[in-house]
Amino acid sequence: MKGLAKDLGHIVAKERVKTDPEDLFAYSGDATYYIKRGNPDAVVLPENTNEVSEVMRYAFHNAIPVTPRGAGSGLSGGCTPLRGGIVLDMKRMGKILEISRRNMSARVEAGVVLGDFHRAVKKEGLFYPPNPQSMNVCTLGGNVATRACGPHGVKYGATGDYVMGLEVVLPDGSIIAPGGLAARSSAGYDLTHLFAGSEGTLGVITKANFRLLALPPAHRTAVVACETIEQAGDTVAEILAGGTLPAMVEFIPQMAIIAMNNYINPPLITEGQAYLLIDLDGTLDEIQAQADHVLGICRRMGVLDIRVIEDEKEAETYWTARSNLGAMLLTVMKKAINEDVAVPRDKIPEFVREIQKMAATLSKVVLGIGGHAGDGNMHPSIFFPEVNKEAESEAQETIKKVVRLGLSLGGTVSGEHGIGFHKAEFLHWELGEIQIRLLKRIKKAFDPKGIMNPGKLWKDGR
Ligand SMILES: Cc1cc2nc3c(=O)[nH]c(=O)nc-3n(C[C@H](O)[C@H](O)[C@H](O)COP(=O)(O)OP(=O)(O)OC[C@H]3O[C@@H](n4cnc5c(N)ncnc54)[C@H](O)[C@@H]3O)c2cc1C
Repeated sequence: MKGLAKDLGHIVAKERVKTDPEDLFAYSGDATYYIKRGNPDAVVLPENTNEVSEVMRYAFHNAIPVTPRGAGSGLSGGCTPLRGGIVLDMKRMGKILEISRRNMSARVEAGVVLGDFHRAVKKEGLFYPPNPQSMNVCTLGGNVATRACGPHGVKYGATGDYVMGLEVVLPDGSIIAPGGLAARSSAGYDLTHLFAGSEGTLGVITKANFRLLALPPAHRTAVVACETIEQAGDTVAEILAGGTLPAMVEFIPQMAIIAMNNYINPPLITEGQAYLLIDLDGTLDEIQAQADHVLGICRRMGVLDIRVIEDEKEAETYWTARSNLGAMLLTVMKKAINEDVAVPRDKIPEFVREIQKMAATLSKVVLGIGGHAGDGNMHPSIFFPEVNKEAESEAQETIKKVVRLGLSLGGTVSGEHGIGFHKAEFLHWELGEIQIRLLKRIKKAFDPKGIMNPGKLWKDGR
């Protein structure tokens, strides 16, 4: 685009406008870069809301596409600039503005890295639960824009549940601040939560206010080896229905435990078809009562093995192994596609069983499944021993079958990663024509020229 860099260099400092081919390539996709890339024409690194507003005003006037980007750790192609234009890298807006113990809230800029936020909040004796496993890189703006979740979802919910207010720059450059710092609001349409999950298609989130909780004083981890997948599903159901709400319950398949054993000492037995990695939190008395309840259920269910880890440092190794699972499996596989179909909790065993049947029919790719069992937020993943045309086409067919299966069980195409362009076709399957038309009208009201992250959420025929 002729003159673009020069014009942008009048809005922000020239060194914060990138147009070198290497830079453009680096911003051409997210963690699904292997599916499809799209180079932007320029990358801008704004340092404050006014700069974002001026860039948007310029883009709006010239009808230039703009794609907001946090860390680019997304798993649906959300920040891939499909139509070129400007990528707004929000990482320089990385200040924690306030943590208030008295209001149990925080105000942050959108580019704050989640892991840094966790640590800062913890120092104040407070707790921000959402914990996507990309926490050491992903940004709070990206988390809000995707309604990110993570293992804490079962007890504590997802990012959207903690957003109290936002500052947003609209496509024409105007700045709004829906919500605030009050614990409750019934003030008209809930625009704050409309932006949560909007994936950069309605405006640029520049600041966010979050609700915080008191830090649970203690934790205890347990690993349960189950003979069958059904047993794992039934055990989770009994634990929850019996009144214990673990802070995390991860469902881990046998294949993944073999990989995790590289981190764990002594290694876990590998005879189980499915494993539950459980975190209990609360006061020591609460934890003891929860542990007694959970262990009682596990014994009644006849599980193969139970390991309780009392030491928090040792427990950390299990959780680190869990969060590095994807990376570990990629040391033996050439490529992975991670889906995040979520199903009702009582449908987990059926979903997993059908996935396993599907997996047995595949010859070019490996289909595995794990996930956040406590809230049905499952992660069917496809691994490529070799990358070639046959494997690609088997993978694409399999993804469609997995999504259809999840929907037929009353589930959703995305439990936490969002739609991006990767799942645009599937969103149609889930919502149907009338809802998609409504979404498009909402988009038009915010973004009449269609410049905000175009090509995302639904297929628009281009
Ligand atoms: C190893 C790994 C593990 C993961 N684990 C989880 C998990 O457990 N749970 C989970 O939910 N996700 C997980 N993810 C996915 C990803 O980390 C999340 O979707 C995260 O919220 C993306 O944040 P980001 O800052 O990287 O956003 P990006 O990838 O940069 O962008 C994501 C979307 O948000 C939009 N966006 C970003 N910033 C803004 C902004 N300031 N204003 C408006 N729109 C914006 C982008 O346009 C895009 O549509 C994982 C990813 C990886 C690679």
